[in-house]
Amino acid sequence: MKLIIGNWKMFPSSPKEAKSIFNGIKKGVRGVTHAKVIVCPPALFISTLIAIKAKAKISIGGQNSSFEDEGAHTGETSPRALALIGATHVILGHSERRAMGETNKEVSAKVVAAIRNKLTVVLCVGEKARDEHGAYFNEVAMQLHSSLEGFPKNEFKRLVIAYEPIWAIGAKAKRAATPSDCREMSILIRRELTEYFGKKVAFTIPILYGGSVDDRNAEGFLKEGEADGLLVGRISLDPEKFSTIIHIANNFRKL
Ligand code: PEP
Repeated sequence: MKLIIGNWKMFPSSPKEAKSIFNGIKKGVRGVTHAKVIVCPPALFISTLIAIKAKAKISIGGQNSSFEDEGAHTGETSPRALALIGATHVILGHSERRAMGETNKEVSAKVVAAIRNKLTVVLCVGEKARDEHGAYFNEVAMQLHSSLEGFPKNEFKRLVIAYEPIWAIGAKAKRAATPSDCREMSILIRRELTEYFGKKVAFTIPILYGGSVDDRNAEGFLKEGEADGLLVGRISLDPEKFSTIIHIANNFRKL
């Protein structure tokens, strides 16, 4: 089953709009049986969306959480609180947070705390830029390796990797990566995961692609790119386009 995750980033700014987007996605997931959908709104709206979720098959996740369950950390989000209000997932190590100074060491501590609180971690990795010598492969391997430090191996079912090349993320990106860029990097990530978890487990951990995914290029990443799912930013705020992506993923049951 393909995994489709929406990262709303810091949008929208009103609860009314958040509810309206979410209700649109709720309509969009009707009849979907073979795609797992997770929406990660700003933390302020998590409870609101959980309250209106009803029976819709959408899980709700956070976009960040602390390395501690509680403490004197002004402005941080507790992973324990996230889990207690009903979130099931949390995105960690997103490049927009790494750009604010988050290190691999901090990411790994957050990952361990999230797992301790029974959240599923969507761990983001990706290179800043590509060079002709392929140094970016090492960059991603290193990032993954360090961000997983201390990850309890028996909790592998709570891990999802999102490959997000930084140069392909956001409105300023010139283009998305290609399906073959995605496939190539998945092979490397799978190899790194094999080193950590062993082959059998490594092949069960979903590897998603993220970076300017839309309703036109989604199929290519899932098919030729062999991605196990997609982490969708901007377009996940557009219920119609996001629902199209969900249905593309759902159709993979027929293949
Ligand atoms: C993201 O923020 O994780 C992302 C992939 O953004 P976008 O789809 O807007 O490039």
